[in-house]
Amino acid sequence: MGIRGIIEKKKDGDELSGDEVGYFVSGYLRGEIPDYQMSALLMAICFQGMSFRETLDLTKAMVSSGERLDLSHIPGPKVDKHSTGGVGDKVSLVLAPLVASCGVVVPMVSGRSLGHTGGTLDKLESIPGFRTELSTPEFMSSLEKRGVAIVAQTGEMVPADRKLYGLRDATGTVASIPLISASIVSKKVAEGAESLVLDVKVGKGAFMKSIEEARELANLMMEMGREMGIRVVALLTSAEQPLGRTIGNSLEVEETISTLRGEEATSDLLEVTLELGSHMLVLGKIAKKLSQARGLLWDALQSGRGLSKLRELVEGQGGDSSVLDDPGRLPTSKVKLEVASPESGFLSRIDALEIGLAANSLGAGRESLGVAVDSSVGIVLDKKVGDEVEVGERVAVIHTNDQERGEGARLRVERALKVGPNKVTPPEFIIETLEAGR
Ligand code: URA
Repeated sequence: MGIRGIIEKKKDGDELSGDEVGYFVSGYLRGEIPDYQMSALLMAICFQGMSFRETLDLTKAMVSSGERLDLSHIPGPKVDKHSTGGVGDKVSLVLAPLVASCGVVVPMVSGRSLGHTGGTLDKLESIPGFRTELSTPEFMSSLEKRGVAIVAQTGEMVPADRKLYGLRDATGTVASIPLISASIVSKKVAEGAESLVLDVKVGKGAFMKSIEEARELANLMMEMGREMGIRVVALLTSAEQPLGRTIGNSLEVEETISTLRGEEATSDLLEVTLELGSHMLVLGKIAKKLSQARGLLWDALQSGRGLSKLRELVEGQGGDSSVLDDPGRLPTSKVKLEVASPESGFLSRIDALEIGLAANSLGAGRESLGVAVDSSVGIVLDKKVGDEVEVGERVAVIHTNDQERGEGARLRVERALKVGPNKVTPPEFIIETLEAGR
């Protein structure tokens, strides 16, 4: 059956055979299937879904489109973490060095900003000189030397996902459970991870808006992981409000540095990081229990070992590590605009989707892959949900290089915030933990 027949079959809700799935993945990669037909198929998959077997075939076909790394010669457990994408989500930047400083090898293949969500690679590239596009030998050698690397997919690693990801971003076909699952699990299999902790974001700022959807995605990825020989634990975490206090690339690196310096001891960012990291240490058998793992991570943070590991990572990937001593050396915007509280009371909502879109409108994210981002722009939140505010008090600052765009973003941020008269309990960031066998 040709691609037209495959599109029609999926449009009608029928199950594709393994050969058909393999054909559309390799045909698209070879350039034999044009973007317009692939877009139609992706849209049909978004509406009709895929069976477990089809999703597994898709994951396998994506892994086979490139090389699968063998990290068995590198001592230590190989454990990665992947997020389905959030707003202000700089967890990977704090977590990877912190966990690596406890003896876990972290082979982290990350992504760029997608839709309204930020991307780890864009954040790291705001550090002058930092290279995320490493070759496979460079990636392996970083893992051997430092036990951690955060990179873009190399040209050889799951090239089918690389090409499909760009098309999905441009055609509004990202938010599909089987497509997200195959995209993430294929990369983790190819990079050589033995275990994986998934941070499945749920809520306004996430691709999965309801807990039911997020649970379905998490369960599917856990099953896919098992079929492909990876142990997976999934945490559902809230993306109702942004994570941490910054949104935007260099701003998020600055928050990462202050977190690893131990200056943000009670933040939601640190809480999510420690929870995900504890699971990584247990999966990697560095700790027997989560409580013990948390203690090890806390020690690594307090002793500065996490920060030292970040320094090694930055220097090893060509970045200017003096930013760790002086974050003022990171790119900064020309203009800063304040957002004031419209009334006195308690902050009851900070709509993460609106904040993500406002940051994008400043240039922090991109409309389509391949477009450059502005590292210096973004939003800093002075207050989080549950905080008390006075009328006129500053609740956020817009960092912009363009006054007009900044004013537009300020309006958006104002709309994203809600202040009410009643006390509000700050929401839990960790919603649920799913482990195989539960
Ligand atoms: N992250 C990925 O790697 N792939 C997706 O499809 C969505 C988020």
